Amino acid sequence: MVLPNDECERIEALRRCHILDTAPEDVFDELALLAAQICRTPIALITLVDAKREWFKSKFGLTVDEIPRESSFCAYTIQRPGLFAIRDALGDGRFSNNPLVVAEPKIRSYAGVPLITSEGFAVGTLCVMSTVPKLLSKCQIRALEILGRQVSRWIALRCRAARMEAAVVGRDVSSTILKPEVGHASQANYTETINGKPGTVYATENLFASSRAFLLRRLALGLLRDEFSVHFQPKIELASRQVTGFEALVRWVHPELGLILPGEFIPVAEEEPSHIESLTLCVLKQTLQRACAYGWVERGLHVAVNLSARSLQDGRLPGLIMAILETWNFPAHLLVLEITESAFMSDFSRARATLNRLRAIGVMLSVDDYGTGYSSLAYLKELPLQELKIDRAFVTNIQRRERDLAIVRATVELAHQLGMTVVAEGVEDMATLETLDGIGCDGAQGYAIARPMGTEELAVWLETHCPA
Ligand code: C2E
Ligand code: CA
Ligand code: CA
Repeated sequence: MVLPNDECERIEALRRCHILDTAPEDVFDELALLAAQICRTPIALITLVDAKREWFKSKFGLTVDEIPRESSFCAYTIQRPGLFAIRDALGDGRFSNNPLVVAEPKIRSYAGVPLITSEGFAVGTLCVMSTVPKLLSKCQIRALEILGRQVSRWIALRCRAARMEAAVVGRDVSSTILKPEVGHASQANYTETINGKPGTVYATENLFASSRAFLLRRLALGLLRDEFSVHFQPKIELASRQVTGFEALVRWVHPELGLILPGEFIPVAEEEPSHIESLTLCVLKQTLQRACAYGWVERGLHVAVNLSARSLQDGRLPGLIMAILETWNFPAHLLVLEITESAFMSDFSRARATLNRLRAIGVMLSVDDYGTGYSSLAYLKELPLQELKIDRAFVTNIQRRERDLAIVRATVELAHQLGMTVVAEGVEDMATLETLDGIGCDGAQGYAIARPMGTEELAVWLETHCPA
């Protein structure tokens, strides 16, 4: 058997994927099925090439779990970057001991692409096989390559979830993988001792389903360890093009996974009221501290903090916010709270009570992502709101779509009649910015002006674009 030059490291990389001998998973089975259908073959496999065997993670059209590596097709596929194809295996000495060739189903043709890890090791293949001599068309080869990349991505993602689990429970990744005999059907967690203490272990096949639970626990730890920081994105007044303030956008700087954007963890944090409350207060404290330290307050620049929809149902919120404002001696009118329409809808009267109390403190209230919910401006007028942020979905295409422009224009007019200012979010080019200015929109935020930045970078940006 000819081995790849980096065989030892390759096997190590395969072990780090923690996928060998795990139960079938729908996502892999579906990708294999797709490969078989596109390539019009009765068999498609996702294989992992181990030291002595070729093990099948997914096997469409086959019943065996593994074959010896020595005579396998895939042992060749992992030795090259692209496709490895055999039109007819009959009489090819390399495969004369391959049990799939010599016995049922009597494979004649093969085409496979390597599965590459993020470190660049070919750990297995996505391959199709047929019982008649055949070569794939160019389109089929292209599709097989694309599907192969998808399988590789899923293996990486799976590995990342396992690492995250390990980070949560503080033990070696390998121990997060269940013994295969626990089986595919196991949906329940079971307990075992970790370093002598009882701990919960999740079935590998449940990693994705349960990764939210891991994330939730890891979030709590992250809050304790101060792993959350805030980036700021400038907002400008369109008429003067002057910076009026910044939106605070939270970032999770995970010690192992690196920067995680809020889209990944806010929905999870929202599942646990105490987590989202802690996160909101953490962002608020950091934001006010920066605003004071960097002289934004003296310059009359406001800061906007996002409130979770759930927060409005929490009657303690206004009191907590007032206490933080007092701690920093921060002028309430320079704090904007951005709240999405959905926050008003679940329990309108409770949300209104909280908003009234917040407004009484003197903070500004802004409707975030306006237009994505189903609420009307007339309905929102019953709430003490000062600002409307038109969602990016309506702003992005106003240059190309008449209807989008009409919606934005009508919203601006109505909001003005109701005494609110309007900010357009997601402004990505200067032409859009000019158009918004032309229809009377008050403010803008988006990549055309600046991307979200850390405080140091923002200080430099501010110095260049808006010297004191
Ligand atoms: P959002 O409040 O609508 O924030 C604006 C998002 O759009 C930000 O994404 C920002 O980076 C991005 N963005 C800004 N300008 C542009 C642009 O021109 N083009 C495009 N394509 N995108 C632009 P980010 O930072 O990933 O935040 C995503 C969402 O996470 C926010 O949407 C907000 O709903 C939520 N979020 C962020 N920070 C917090 C927080 O501290 N608390 C809560 N509850 N939610 C937060
Ligand atoms: Ca926002
Ligand atoms: Ca928004």
